[in-house]
Amino acid sequence: SRTFFVGGNWKMNGSLDSSKQLIETLKSANLDSNTEVVVAPPALHLLLVKELLGNHQVKVSAQNAYHKPSGAFTGEVSVSMLKDAQIPWVILGHSERRTLFGEADENVAEKTQAALAEGLGVIACVGETLQQRESNETVNVVVRQLDAIADKVKDWTKVVVAYEPVWAIGTGKVATAEQAQEVHAAIRKWAGDKLGQDAAAKLRIIYGGSVAAKNCKELAGQPDIDGFLVGGASLKPEFVDIVNARL
Ligand code: 13P
Repeated sequence: SRTFFVGGNWKMNGSLDSSKQLIETLKSANLDSNTEVVVAPPALHLLLVKELLGNHQVKVSAQNAYHKPSGAFTGEVSVSMLKDAQIPWVILGHSERRTLFGEADENVAEKTQAALAEGLGVIACVGETLQQRESNETVNVVVRQLDAIADKVKDWTKVVVAYEPVWAIGTGKVATAEQAQEVHAAIRKWAGDKLGQDAAAKLRIIYGGSVAAKNCKELAGQPDIDGFLVGGASLKPEFVDIVNARL
Protein backbone atom coordinates (compact mmCIF):
# COMPACT_ATOMS: atom_id res chain seq x y z
CA SER A 1 0.00 0.00 0.00
CA ARG A 2 1.00 3.61 -0.51
CA THR A 3 3.08 5.50 2.07
CA PHE A 4 1.15 8.51 3.38
CA PHE A 5 2.84 11.72 2.21
CA VAL A 6 2.51 15.18 3.78
CA GLY A 7 4.22 18.26 2.35
CA GLY A 8 4.42 21.67 3.95
CA ASN A 9 4.57 24.42 1.35
CA TRP A 10 5.81 27.47 3.19
CA LYS A 11 5.39 29.64 0.07
CA MET A 12 7.06 33.08 0.34
CA ASN A 13 6.95 33.28 4.13
CA GLY A 14 9.27 33.50 7.05
CA SER A 15 12.78 34.52 7.92
CA LEU A 16 15.95 32.59 8.68
CA ASP A 17 14.93 32.74 12.30
CA SER A 18 11.31 31.59 11.85
CA SER A 19 12.44 28.77 9.53
CA LYS A 20 14.79 27.61 12.26
CA GLN A 21 12.00 27.71 14.82
CA LEU A 22 9.65 25.70 12.60
CA ILE A 23 12.29 23.02 12.17
CA GLU A 24 12.89 22.92 15.91
CA THR A 25 9.15 22.40 16.45
CA LEU A 26 9.13 19.54 13.94
CA LYS A 27 12.23 17.93 15.42
CA SER A 28 10.77 17.91 18.90
CA ALA A 29 7.38 16.58 17.76
CA ASN A 30 6.16 13.01 17.68
CA LEU A 31 5.63 12.36 13.99
CA ASP A 32 3.98 9.24 12.61
CA SER A 33 6.99 7.21 11.47
CA ASN A 34 4.85 5.76 8.66
CA THR A 35 4.33 9.17 7.06
CA GLU A 36 6.77 10.62 4.54
CA VAL A 37 7.14 14.31 5.35
CA VAL A 38 8.72 17.14 3.37
CA VAL A 39 8.85 20.87 3.99
CA ALA A 40 9.36 23.42 1.23
CA PRO A 41 10.92 26.68 2.42
CA PRO A 42 11.74 29.61 0.13
CA ALA A 43 14.83 28.91 -2.02
CA LEU A 44 17.01 31.18 0.09
CA HIS A 45 16.33 29.04 3.17
CA LEU A 46 16.71 25.59 1.60
CA LEU A 47 20.27 24.91 2.70
CA LEU A 48 19.72 26.15 6.24
CA VAL A 49 16.65 23.94 6.61
CA LYS A 50 18.43 20.97 5.08
CA GLU A 51 21.35 21.38 7.49
CA LEU A 52 19.05 21.78 10.51
CA LEU A 53 17.15 18.62 9.56
CA GLY A 54 20.25 16.48 9.10
CA ASN A 55 19.14 12.84 9.07
CA HIS A 56 15.65 13.59 10.34
CA GLN A 57 12.56 11.87 8.93
CA VAL A 58 11.44 15.24 7.52
CA LYS A 59 13.05 16.03 4.17
CA VAL A 60 13.37 19.29 2.32
CA SER A 61 11.79 20.36 -0.96
CA ALA A 62 12.13 23.34 -3.27
CA GLN A 63 8.99 25.19 -4.38
CA ASN A 64 10.03 25.54 -8.00
CA ALA A 65 13.03 25.11 -10.30
CA TYR A 66 14.06 25.80 -13.88
CA HIS A 67 14.66 22.94 -16.30
CA LYS A 68 17.82 24.25 -18.00
CA PRO A 69 20.92 23.22 -16.03
CA SER A 70 22.68 26.61 -16.10
CA GLY A 71 23.10 29.76 -18.12
CA ALA A 72 21.68 33.22 -18.67
CA PHE A 73 18.38 32.81 -16.81
CA THR A 74 18.50 35.63 -14.28
CA GLY A 75 16.65 34.90 -11.09
CA GLU A 76 16.20 31.18 -11.64
CA VAL A 77 17.49 28.14 -9.73
CA SER A 78 17.97 24.97 -11.78
CA VAL A 79 17.03 21.40 -11.00
CA SER A 80 20.74 20.54 -11.40
CA MET A 81 21.56 23.03 -8.66
CA LEU A 82 19.00 21.38 -6.40
CA LYS A 83 20.58 18.03 -7.11
CA ASP A 84 24.05 19.41 -6.41
CA ALA A 85 22.80 20.78 -3.09
CA GLN A 86 21.15 17.42 -2.33
CA ILE A 87 17.65 18.82 -2.16
CA PRO A 88 15.62 15.65 -2.81
CA TRP A 89 12.22 17.10 -3.77
CA VAL A 90 10.71 19.91 -5.81
CA ILE A 91 7.13 21.19 -6.07
CA LEU A 92 6.25 21.96 -9.69
CA GLY A 93 3.22 23.49 -11.36
CA HIS A 94 1.72 25.02 -8.24
CA SER A 95 -1.34 27.08 -9.18
CA GLU A 96 0.41 30.24 -7.96
CA ARG A 97 3.23 29.54 -10.43
CA ARG A 98 0.70 28.87 -13.17
CA THR A 99 -1.51 31.91 -12.60
CA LEU A 100 0.86 34.56 -11.18
CA PHE A 101 4.01 33.60 -13.11
CA GLY A 102 2.55 32.35 -16.36
CA GLU A 103 3.64 28.73 -16.28
CA ALA A 104 1.86 26.72 -18.95
CA ASP A 105 1.23 22.97 -18.90
CA GLU A 106 4.22 22.46 -21.22
CA ASN A 107 6.54 24.42 -18.91
CA VAL A 108 5.47 22.29 -15.97
CA ALA A 109 6.01 19.17 -18.05
CA GLU A 110 9.54 20.09 -19.11
CA LYS A 111 10.46 21.03 -15.54
CA THR A 112 9.09 17.71 -14.28
CA GLN A 113 11.04 15.82 -16.93
CA ALA A 114 14.26 17.66 -16.04
CA ALA A 115 13.83 17.20 -12.28
CA LEU A 116 13.20 13.47 -12.63
CA ALA A 117 16.23 13.18 -14.92
CA GLU A 118 18.32 14.63 -12.08
CA GLY A 119 16.87 12.06 -9.69
CA LEU A 120 14.66 14.43 -7.74
CA GLY A 121 11.21 13.55 -6.51
CA VAL A 122 8.50 15.81 -7.93
CA ILE A 123 5.29 17.01 -6.31
CA ALA A 124 3.31 17.86 -9.44
CA CYS A 125 0.34 20.13 -8.79
CA VAL A 126 -2.92 20.17 -10.71
CA GLY A 127 -6.33 21.65 -10.06
CA GLU A 128 -9.28 23.60 -11.41
CA THR A 129 -10.53 27.13 -10.79
CA LEU A 130 -13.98 27.78 -9.32
CA GLN A 131 -15.27 28.78 -12.75
CA GLN A 132 -13.99 25.55 -14.28
CA ARG A 133 -15.61 23.51 -11.48
CA GLU A 134 -18.91 25.31 -11.95
CA SER A 135 -18.87 24.55 -15.66
CA ASN A 136 -18.16 20.86 -14.93
CA GLU A 137 -14.65 21.07 -16.35
CA THR A 138 -12.80 19.78 -13.29
CA VAL A 139 -11.73 16.38 -14.57
CA ASN A 140 -11.00 17.73 -18.07
CA VAL A 141 -8.70 20.39 -16.65
CA VAL A 142 -6.85 18.00 -14.38
CA VAL A 143 -6.49 15.41 -17.15
CA ARG A 144 -5.17 18.09 -19.55
CA GLN A 145 -2.57 19.13 -16.95
CA LEU A 146 -1.55 15.51 -16.32
CA ASP A 147 -1.50 14.57 -20.01
CA ALA A 148 0.99 17.36 -20.69
CA ILE A 149 3.35 15.84 -18.11
CA ALA A 150 2.74 12.29 -19.33
CA ASP A 151 3.74 13.37 -22.85
CA LYS A 152 7.26 13.89 -21.50
CA VAL A 153 7.42 11.59 -18.47
CA LYS A 154 6.98 7.83 -18.70
CA ASP A 155 8.18 6.73 -15.25
CA TRP A 156 5.98 8.17 -12.51
CA THR A 157 7.53 6.28 -9.58
CA LYS A 158 9.10 9.48 -8.21
CA VAL A 159 6.10 11.68 -8.87
CA VAL A 160 3.53 12.60 -6.23
CA VAL A 161 0.45 14.23 -7.75
CA ALA A 162 -1.02 17.06 -5.66
CA TYR A 163 -4.64 17.82 -6.43
CA GLU A 164 -5.17 21.41 -5.34
CA PRO A 165 -8.45 23.00 -6.39
CA VAL A 166 -7.59 26.68 -6.87
CA TRP A 167 -10.77 27.80 -5.08
CA ALA A 168 -9.68 25.95 -1.95
CA ILE A 169 -6.17 27.39 -1.74
CA GLY A 170 -5.74 29.91 1.05
CA THR A 171 -9.49 30.50 1.22
CA GLY A 172 -10.48 28.38 4.21
CA LYS A 173 -12.92 26.68 1.80
CA VAL A 174 -11.68 23.10 1.94
CA ALA A 175 -13.03 20.60 -0.58
CA THR A 176 -15.36 18.13 1.09
CA ALA A 177 -14.00 14.63 1.49
CA GLU A 178 -16.45 13.51 -1.23
CA GLN A 179 -15.39 16.26 -3.66
CA ALA A 180 -11.72 15.48 -3.16
CA GLN A 181 -12.16 11.71 -3.32
CA GLU A 182 -14.11 12.02 -6.57
CA VAL A 183 -11.27 13.86 -8.30
CA HIS A 184 -8.57 11.65 -6.75
CA ALA A 185 -10.41 8.58 -8.07
CA ALA A 186 -10.59 10.22 -11.52
CA ILE A 187 -6.83 10.89 -11.39
CA ARG A 188 -6.16 7.27 -10.44
CA LYS A 189 -8.36 6.11 -13.30
CA TRP A 190 -6.43 8.40 -15.64
CA ALA A 191 -3.19 6.89 -14.34
CA GLY A 192 -4.50 3.37 -14.93
CA ASP A 193 -5.37 4.15 -18.53
CA LYS A 194 -2.21 6.14 -19.24
CA LEU A 195 0.50 4.51 -17.12
CA GLY A 196 -0.89 1.06 -16.40
CA GLN A 197 -2.66 -0.49 -13.42
CA ASP A 198 0.49 -1.16 -11.41
CA ALA A 199 1.74 2.42 -11.69
CA ALA A 200 -1.75 3.71 -10.87
CA ALA A 201 -1.99 1.59 -7.75
CA LYS A 202 1.38 2.91 -6.55
CA LEU A 203 0.86 6.59 -7.45
CA ARG A 204 0.49 8.87 -4.44
CA ILE A 205 -2.25 11.46 -4.97
CA ILE A 206 -2.32 14.08 -2.23
CA TYR A 207 -4.85 16.83 -1.58
CA GLY A 208 -4.11 20.52 -1.00
CA GLY A 209 -6.30 23.51 -0.25
CA SER A 210 -7.16 24.76 3.24
CA VAL A 211 -6.08 21.53 4.92
CA ALA A 212 -6.17 21.96 8.69
CA ALA A 213 -6.05 19.85 11.83
CA LYS A 214 -9.84 19.94 11.99
CA ASN A 215 -10.50 18.57 8.49
CA CYS A 216 -7.50 16.32 7.80
CA LYS A 217 -8.78 13.11 9.36
CA GLU A 218 -11.90 12.82 7.27
CA LEU A 219 -9.94 13.57 4.10
CA ALA A 220 -7.22 11.09 5.10
CA GLY A 221 -9.87 8.38 5.47
CA GLN A 222 -10.76 8.49 1.76
CA PRO A 223 -9.47 5.55 -0.28
CA ASP A 224 -7.64 7.63 -2.92
CA ILE A 225 -6.28 10.41 -0.70
CA ASP A 226 -2.68 9.52 0.09
CA GLY A 227 -1.66 12.64 1.96
CA PHE A 228 -1.66 16.41 1.83
CA LEU A 229 0.09 19.48 0.51
CA VAL A 230 -0.37 22.07 3.22
CA GLY A 231 0.10 25.84 2.91
CA GLY A 232 -0.95 28.10 5.76
CA ALA A 233 -1.20 25.38 8.41
CA SER A 234 2.32 24.17 7.62
CA LEU A 235 3.63 27.34 9.27
CA LYS A 236 1.96 26.43 12.54
CA PRO A 237 2.41 23.68 15.15
CA GLU A 238 -0.87 22.31 13.74
CA PHE A 239 1.20 20.83 10.89
CA VAL A 240 2.15 18.00 13.26
CA ASP A 241 -1.50 17.00 13.62
CA ILE A 242 -1.83 16.89 9.84
CA VAL A 243 1.29 14.71 9.51
CA ASN A 244 -0.35 12.44 12.09
CA ALA A 245 -3.77 12.39 10.38
CA ARG A 246 -3.66 8.60 10.00
CA LEU A 247 -2.75 7.90 13.64
P1 13P B 1 -3.42 26.50 1.94
O1 13P B 1 -3.22 25.24 2.79
O2 13P B 1 -2.92 27.72 2.62
O3 13P B 1 -4.81 26.60 1.44
O4 13P B 1 -2.47 26.31 0.66
C1 13P B 1 -2.52 25.13 -0.05
C2 13P B 1 -1.40 25.11 -1.02
O5 13P B 1 -1.37 25.87 -1.97
C3 13P B 1 -0.31 24.16 -0.79
O6 13P B 1 0.55 24.11 -1.87
